[in-house]
Amino acid sequence: MPADRCPTGVGPLDQLLGGGLETDGLTELYGEGGSGKTLVCLEAATRLALADRWVCYIDTEGVSVDRLEAIAHGHVEQVLQRLLLATPKSLAEQTSAVSAACSLARDGKRPVGLIVLDSATFYYRLTLSSDEEDAGRQALGRELAELVATAIASHLPVLFTNQVWRNQRTGDLEPLGGSFVNHAAKTVVRIDRLGGARRRAVLVKHRSLGEASAEFRITSTGLS
Ligand code: ATP
Ligand code: MG
Repeated sequence: MPADRCPTGVGPLDQLLGGGLETDGLTELYGEGGSGKTLVCLEAATRLALADRWVCYIDTEGVSVDRLEAIAHGHVEQVLQRLLLATPKSLAEQTSAVSAACSLARDGKRPVGLIVLDSATFYYRLTLSSDEEDAGRQALGRELAELVATAIASHLPVLFTNQVWRNQRTGDLEPLGGSFVNHAAKTVVRIDRLGGARRRAVLVKHRSLGEASAEFRITSTGLS
């Protein structure tokens, strides 16, 4: 495994990514509801926590401990001891949580191995088509810029998830936020639902690898 990769623990995805999440940059996962974005985040966080690294986990969706328990296979206490969990209730609180995570990663007092932002666009989506839309875009843009700077300064992987909207013209599902979100990410992965528990991860953007895909399955204990 290359030194600049951080495995998520989801084998087919790690293989697709050339070993895992890249340090020094942001990886974006996007896909429709239930595609498995949160499961990938939980798998990656669990793996890092069990390797005794701290994980700053910003959760806008209300991750349940039950889900973590299923993934952590009896080690949930150990995982929770290494999770610095923030549960923002607004875009402003999300911005503060991102800043706090970046400060923790940069001050180096605890060895932070990963920052997760799941979902980056839950509160941003609520500003769309309202008077708050410009402010929402600016706030999200500043958050992503701070995460990029921190990933580079602290040689960290940052994993964020994004929701999708249906482009009525093309019929495609596209990530929210358009180019300003995608530009912030060094690597972009789309997760497609293939029916039942089957999922396909598609590498949409990577600085050295070409477009490729990998399949995995959702099981009662996470991903396989
Ligand atoms: P969203 O965009 O709604 O956040 P997601 O891409 O994060 O969706 P996950 O939450 O990772 O998707 O869900 C992946 C699969 O895990 C779902 O299809 C479902 O089968 C299962 N799942 C979802 N929520 C739970 C839950 N609370 N407990 C157990 N399994 C769940
Ligand atoms: Mg989710």
